[in-house]
Amino acid sequence: MNLFEPHLFRRQFPLIENYDKSLIEKNGLTSSLIYFDNAATTQKPQQVINSQQHYYQRLNANVHRASHQLSSKATFAFENARTLVQNFIGANSVKEIIWTKGATESINIVAQSLARNTLIPGDEVVLCASEHHANIVPWQIVAEQTGAIIKVLPLTNSGYIDIDEIDNIITNNTKFVACAHISNVLGRINPIKEIIAKAKSVGAISLIDGAQAIAHLSIDVQSLECDFYVFSAHKMYGPTGVGVLYGKEEHLERMLPYQGGGEMIKAVSFTQATTFNELPFKFEAGTPNVAGVIAFAESIDFLAPFLADDTNSYNLYEQKLVDHCFHALAKIEQVKFIVDGKPDIGVIAFTLTGHHNQDIATSLDTYGIAIRSGHHCAMPLMAYLNIDGCLRVSLAAYNTIAEIDYFIESLKNILHDAAFETINEQVSKQAGEVRETDPSVNEMDDIISLFSNTKGWDSRHREIMLLGKTLPRLDKALRNENTLISGCESLAWLKAEYNKEGLYTFSADSDAKIIRGLLVIVLAAFNNKTAQQIIEFNINNYFSDLGLMQHLSPSRGNGLLAIVAKIQLLSREN
Ligand code: PLP
Repeated sequence: MNLFEPHLFRRQFPLIENYDKSLIEKNGLTSSLIYFDNAATTQKPQQVINSQQHYYQRLNANVHRASHQLSSKATFAFENARTLVQNFIGANSVKEIIWTKGATESINIVAQSLARNTLIPGDEVVLCASEHHANIVPWQIVAEQTGAIIKVLPLTNSGYIDIDEIDNIITNNTKFVACAHISNVLGRINPIKEIIAKAKSVGAISLIDGAQAIAHLSIDVQSLECDFYVFSAHKMYGPTGVGVLYGKEEHLERMLPYQGGGEMIKAVSFTQATTFNELPFKFEAGTPNVAGVIAFAESIDFLAPFLADDTNSYNLYEQKLVDHCFHALAKIEQVKFIVDGKPDIGVIAFTLTGHHNQDIATSLDTYGIAIRSGHHCAMPLMAYLNIDGCLRVSLAAYNTIAEIDYFIESLKNILHDAAFETINEQVSKQAGEVRETDPSVNEMDDIISLFSNTKGWDSRHREIMLLGKTLPRLDKALRNENTLISGCESLAWLKAEYNKEGLYTFSADSDAKIIRGLLVIVLAAFNNKTAQQIIEFNINNYFSDLGLMQHLSPSRGNGLLAIVAKIQLLSREN
C-alpha cells in the first residue's frame, strides 16, 4: 500500500482545508485558496500547529539552564529535535547540527565565522548564476572584507549548473564553493555531487544550499560528502524562524563563534580570556526558538516517512503535478518558460508575452490563486537570462490536479479578457472615439467613495485597473534614471512639481497596469499638498479606508511603499 495518499495528506493542512468554506461549491474545489507559492514557504500541518500551542501551554521553559523539571522537559524535547535532524540528513553527530533562524543565517555563519578568518586577497569563492540572494550577498560581504574574488558557474540552456565549465571556474585558487541543491526559480536538481567532488579535489570547502531540496529529496550529507548543508524548517512544513546549519565537525571545531552571549560560553571572566562552549552550543548564543525547534521535530516526523518510502508515492505524486502543470502551461500560446524543458520539482517559472508579470499575479489573486511574480530574490539570474522578472508557480504535495486545472482556466480567462479589451481599445481608436474618463474621480474623496461602493477583491481589482487607464502616460524622455522608483517590482517613474504656494503635484507612470492604477490612488492622496502634509499622511489608514489593506497592504512587495517613499523624498528636496 502507498504510504502517501494525496487526500489524507492534504487534510492535515487546516489553512488550505478551511480557508473559505463558502466558496467550496462555487469553485467545485476542496478549498477557495489555491496556494501555489510553496517555494516561498509551505503551509503547516495540524501536528506542527498543535506542537507550538502545546509547548506554550505545557512545556514553556528556557532550555539547558534551570535545574527544574519544566526546563528539563523542554530541554529534552529540544535536544530530541536535534537528534531527529541528525538522523534525517544522515549527519555523523548531533554536534554537527546547529540551530539557526534559517538557511540565510546558516550561510552567514559560514561566511563570517570561517571564510572571513581564512580567505586572503586573491582567493576565490565560486557561486552559481542561479543562486538565491541568501547565497550571494553573504559571500559578497566577506569578499569585500577579505579581498577575495567571486566567480560564477554558468548554466546550461535547461538551467542546470553547467558541469562542463567546472574545471575552468573551480581551480586551485578556489577556497569555497557555494551552490543551491535546487534553484528556487528553475526547479533544477543541480549536479552537486560532481561539484562537491571537484571542490574537494582542489581543497575547497563546499556549502550546499538545500532550502528548496529538503522537502522533496532524501538527503544524506555523508554520502554527498559536502562540508556544509543548510536549510530552513518553514520550507518543509515546519515553523518560520528555525533553520539548520549542518557542518562537518572538523570545520565547526575550528570556527570562531558567530555571536557572543549566554549559552555559547564555558567560562566568562574580566581577568582571563572567556572560553567557549563545546559544539553545537558554541554557535547558539542566547535563548533559542525553543517552541519552533520542537515544532520543527513534528514536521520532520510528518515528512520523513514519505521521503524514505520505498514505493516513492510522495515523489511520484509531486511529479504528476509538475507534469500536468507544465504541459498545460506549454499549451498556452503566450507562455514562455524561462529555461528549456520541464523542471525536476514543482517550481515552474515563465513569462507571458505581452503581459506584465505583476498584472497577471494580481489578476490570479482575484481568482483566489496565490502565485509569485518578480525576481524571486535571484536578481543576478534575471540579468543572466536577460529578463526583468517572471512568474513562478511552486507546488507542494497537498496541491491537486483540480487546482492546477482551475489555475489554467483562470489564466486563460485573464488572457482572453485582456485580448478582448485590447481589441475594443483598437476599434475605438480607429473609430476616433476618445475614452471617457471621469477626471473628478482623481480626487482622494472620490476614490474613497468609489471604493466604498465596491465590494469584493475581484471588483476592487477591476476598479484599480480601470483607474490605471485614466493616468496620462509620462513622456518617454521623462522615464529615466532620475524619475525611476527603485524597489518597485515593476518599472515605475515619478516626477514632482512644486508651485509658489508650496504645493506639490506629481505625475507618474508604470509598465504594469496594476501599478498605474495604484499610482492614481496614491497620487490623489499626495497631489496639491505641502511637504509637511505629505510627510504626515498615513498611507495605511488610507488603504484601510479604501478596503484595500487586506489585499494590497502597502509593502515593498507590491511597490506601494517604494512609491510613497519616493514621493516623500521628493517633497523633502525643496
Ligand atoms: N536559498 C534558497 C534556494 C531559497 O529558496 C531561500 C528562500 O526562499 C533561501 C535560501 C533563504 O531561506 P530563508 O529565507 O528561510 O533563510
